[in-house]
Amino acid sequence: MHRELFPILDQQVYNHPLVYLDNAATTQKPLSVVETMSDYYLHQNSNIHRGAHHLAEQATERYEAVRRQVQQFIGAAHSHEIVFTRGTTESINLVAASFGQQFLRAGDEVVVSEMEHHSNIVPWQLACQRQGARLRVLPFDDDGILQVDQLASLLNEHTRLVAVTQVSNTLGTVNPLQEIIATAHQHHIPVLVDGAQGIAHIPIDVQALGCDFYCFSAHKMYGPMGVGVLYGREEWLDQMPPYQGGGEMIKEVRFDGTTYNELPFKFEAGTPAVAEVLGLGSAIDFMQQVGVETIARHEQELLAYATAQLQQIDGMRIFGNAPHKTSVVSFLVGDAHPYDVGTLLDKLGIAVRTGHHCTQPVMDHYGIPGTVRASFAIYNTKEEVDELIRALERIVPMLG
Ligand code: PLP
Repeated sequence: MHRELFPILDQQVYNHPLVYLDNAATTQKPLSVVETMSDYYLHQNSNIHRGAHHLAEQATERYEAVRRQVQQFIGAAHSHEIVFTRGTTESINLVAASFGQQFLRAGDEVVVSEMEHHSNIVPWQLACQRQGARLRVLPFDDDGILQVDQLASLLNEHTRLVAVTQVSNTLGTVNPLQEIIATAHQHHIPVLVDGAQGIAHIPIDVQALGCDFYCFSAHKMYGPMGVGVLYGREEWLDQMPPYQGGGEMIKEVRFDGTTYNELPFKFEAGTPAVAEVLGLGSAIDFMQQVGVETIARHEQELLAYATAQLQQIDGMRIFGNAPHKTSVVSFLVGDAHPYDVGTLLDKLGIAVRTGHHCTQPVMDHYGIPGTVRASFAIYNTKEEVDELIRALERIVPMLG
């Protein structure tokens, strides 16, 4: 669907039509996003918030309009709860550093899950090391289902935060956020949601969900690289110290003391990625024009079709068999090394991801070095799934 809006898809790789199945790493960008960004550089480029001239005012207005657009897209109560960052990784690091400095003390605990991306593990390890706190881990079972019934037993009076992914980038599992948040909130513990793999596939309403923080990257939702969002509830962001110092995040700077700007500017030091923010706005327009539900339905069809076809292949092992998944399928075939499978698929024009997918604890859970991962987006087709299956049937015997 809508392939004509993605010119990059119309090319040959090693004399084969490109089949792009690496969407969980990054999606392709529709023309409208690219044009929004080039139009900004061609006609409006100027630094925002500071200039008293026409271009600066226009750029500032458009940048702030995207903040309001994001607020509406994710159902936040206030636009000042939307902080622009470089992406999910920076959003999580911001909270780990700032929330960690304010609220984490020696002997405290942070809970993450066993299926987190490294970017929702390492920032918490660093924060815990700095503050003398401890990381605790909520496990998943062999089907890739989070053991949410064990969450309550991990929470106690020392727990300061639960950080959990909405969707596993390796297993595809959609986690029951409502239940996780309700359990944590019963203990008055805030919840950070890593929405990197959720935002492009699931309609999101942060107020209905009740999460305290929600993080995502534009480049995984048809937008540009280099920009992302931290949503934080006002009551938390207000209490958190600045993450980085610099221009724009201050009210007054004196050598005997500096005061900080109000939300969200307190957390946006320096010149932001204006073109990228506008590109994010355009990506949201694209998703809303197509409809998040339509995207999800199309991807679910591809996932079901691909899963059924893959299961026909001898020696196929699929990792992640939760009943509720998004459009990610991770697998190994026989004894073939995932890297070899990925390399041979590439020679046939098929782009997949191989390796640990920045989730080494997931690999440790299964005792494997990595997987091959195919992931789908709105522009993928059943014919492309057929290409993948045909290619695997050719490759697998070659790899013994
Ligand atoms: N969290 C999850 C679940 C992801 O899949 C990714 C990227 O693959 C990230 C976090 C990090 O996102 P980024 O590299 O855009 O900061």
